[in-house]
Amino acid sequence: MLQASKISLWMDQLPAESLRPRAALRGSLQADVVIIGAGYTGLWTAYYLKRSQPALRVVVLEAQIAGYGASGRNGGWVMGELAGEDTLLAGLDAATRQRCQALLRDIPDEVGRVLARERLDCDYRKGGVLYCAARYPEQEQRLRAQLADWQRHGHGDADFRWLDVPALQQQLRLAGAYGAVYSPHVATIQPARLVRELARRVEEMGVLLFEHSPVLRIEGREAVTAHGRVSGEWLVPAVEAYAASLGGVRSRQIAVQSLIIATEPLPQALWDDIGLAAGQAFSDFGHLVSYGQRSADNRLILGARGGYRFGGRLRQSFTLSAAEVGQRQRLLLTLFPQLVGVRISHGWGGNLGMARGFHPQIVVDRERGILQAGGYGGEGVGASNLAGRTMAALIGGEMGELALLPWLTTPAACRQWEPEPLRWLGYHAILRSFDWEDRVLQRQQSPVWQRRLAQRLAAGMAGLMQ
Ligand SMILES: Cc1cc2nc3c(=O)[nH]c(=O)nc-3n(C[C@H](O)[C@H](O)[C@H](O)COP(=O)(O)OP(=O)(O)OC[C@H]3O[C@@H](n4cnc5c(N)ncnc54)[C@H](O)[C@@H]3O)c2cc1C
Repeated sequence: MLQASKISLWMDQLPAESLRPRAALRGSLQADVVIIGAGYTGLWTAYYLKRSQPALRVVVLEAQIAGYGASGRNGGWVMGELAGEDTLLAGLDAATRQRCQALLRDIPDEVGRVLARERLDCDYRKGGVLYCAARYPEQEQRLRAQLADWQRHGHGDADFRWLDVPALQQQLRLAGAYGAVYSPHVATIQPARLVRELARRVEEMGVLLFEHSPVLRIEGREAVTAHGRVSGEWLVPAVEAYAASLGGVRSRQIAVQSLIIATEPLPQALWDDIGLAAGQAFSDFGHLVSYGQRSADNRLILGARGGYRFGGRLRQSFTLSAAEVGQRQRLLLTLFPQLVGVRISHGWGGNLGMARGFHPQIVVDRERGILQAGGYGGEGVGASNLAGRTMAALIGGEMGELALLPWLTTPAACRQWEPEPLRWLGYHAILRSFDWEDRVLQRQQSPVWQRRLAQRLAAGMAGLMQ
């Protein structure tokens, strides 16, 4: 049996008996829809399919156990946004764009509605998010520019609003912050509980879920495992970062890693000092991604930075090295010096999928009956809910408002990644420029010319990501 603590804090918090693997597939089955992968994408698709068409025969095949992938490991932000949203929506007229934005902002509420309706408990709290200019003044400039962009696209104070330092301090007290943007459109969850609860619920609804059943390849309209095969009208590979290891589906998203640390539960006195009383998510706004939340059992969780392996190889072990923990702990202590001496109880990470357009996509291959969603770029907890709804609607034939979002593409139109070594070189050049910018800007004594140069270089590199 997999050791839950090696997967994530979140899995470690679940009772061992609830992680006992389900039966593996043996023999041949006929279904209407075959879903490969029991993460959020696969399970939300199964959920919305059975809700709209209870008689549909839906089979889910999972290589390990439900939630083994990013869905059981993430930072627990349910976002009402998409990674690369600006690029994705750029070509739309203002009215359509606003309808798409409304669809996206509603995601955390839709997740909340399902959890309430189905009585699924995963510590859901809709406390919003604080994007913080936490460490140097240039973060404030970038954040204000981002806010102006949100406003240009029709968002008012109710969606995104500036908090000066005293207003921020009422919610979160960071050492040396310059201000923040608050948005109510993010909820936090216990990620592993959500995915395991979803798996349990879809089974109750009649979905057949097999674990320890890795699909080796797709042959025509059949998913083939070592000991069985399932055929269906539709196949839904919901494997995100793992796509490269699945025969029969071209890899349209590459694997990237993200790493997280968690403190031991903190005493109330420390929380009185820090804040986050309403369960707000927070981030240190910059080119280098960081994300945090206060868990229901009062730990501080901080995810930051990641990696890319040559050829898009998956990272198998997420036992973090002392250097990996240390790098994140230093960031944590810069943000919260009062945590000095606090023990880091867990460190882990996971593989996530990045699409070439740097925004998520749903590849629709009607000829082969294949629907493949992913490439969420580390922002897939909420996006996978919308993807699941969209794929269920595509299969059901009634898209309604879901047809508006321009993330549906075809195998021919889907952008491919550059071959190696270009990808590796490009990724590392971009990351180094971001890292250098961060180090220069964080050093108060860095001269103005160096600060400007570092910013220009990082902005230029970020431009390459379009
Ligand atoms: C460390 C980390 C932090 C993150 N934090 C956030 C966050 O705070 N907010 C946010 O929005 N997003 C976050 N993300 C991203 C988010 O977790 C993912 O986008 C989302 O979970 C993807 O769900 P999925 O179901 O598509 O893929 P996964 O959860 O990766 O599921 C894929 C499943 O497919 C299975 N599988 C693989 N190959 C096969 C095969 N051949 N046959 C059968 N099954 C197979 C895997 O075992 C796995 O269970 C984070 C990701 C990571 C790694």
